[in-house]
Amino acid sequence: MTQASKNLLKKLIPRALRVSAANYVAQRNSLKPIAPRECPLCDYRGWFDRFGRPPRLDARCPRCGSLERHRLLYLAMLREEIGEEVDREADRVLHFAAEPQLERIFRKQFRNYNTADLFEKADLKINLEAIDLPAGAYRLIIANHVLEHVDDVTAASEIARILSDDGILVAMVPIVEGWDETYENNKIADEAGRWLHFGQGDHVRFYGRDFRDRMERGGLKLRREITATEPDVANYGLLRGEKVFVFGK
Ligand SMILES: [Zn+2]
Repeated sequence: MTQASKNLLKKLIPRALRVSAANYVAQRNSLKPIAPRECPLCDYRGWFDRFGRPPRLDARCPRCGSLERHRLLYLAMLREEIGEEVDREADRVLHFAAEPQLERIFRKQFRNYNTADLFEKADLKINLEAIDLPAGAYRLIIANHVLEHVDDVTAASEIARILSDDGILVAMVPIVEGWDETYENNKIADEAGRWLHFGQGDHVRFYGRDFRDRMERGGLKLRREITATEPDVANYGLLRGEKVFVFGK
């Protein structure tokens, strides 16, 4: 289009209409997927779906439903050999609020694998803040996006209690590494407020980098962190800098 015809269009179409048309195009473009990705859980390659509020592009695998954090955890377990020291035949594994995509895989990998949840269907009905299980019973515990829902220091001490001496906790949480301190606010009392402040209607905090200290207060010591970096971020549709934390006792 020449400059003259652009100017003519500008004169003919009212400004308000031009702005709303431009906004419409910008909004539509902002939701377009970025590039084909690969899902390590189900081997799907292609376009991923957006997911979340606000929406994240290329977040959800259309075949198995995996999100960024599931793919990162799976890659970490696979490549970083998390849980390799676990005896897959003998040791007991407990997975809190198990995501179905990961549960399917872990059930095949570990002979003594159980899921646990207080509200959803699971092998064991467990309250993380008062775990009704014997001390030292588990070698591997997985708690992916669970600790931000509960009294985390109490939960950490309960997890430490049921872990064997050489046991490990694998955990992921929503975290802002740029914050020194975790954000909690007891004035936020309703779901809308929790969405605004904590990013989800049933979250009670947003972690800062003192997440590690909070776990330590409960008796868990940080062993390793596995961080989402390139080329994995681009290939597998991960969140830049997202971390898997591994704690021991
Ligand atoms: Zn998949």
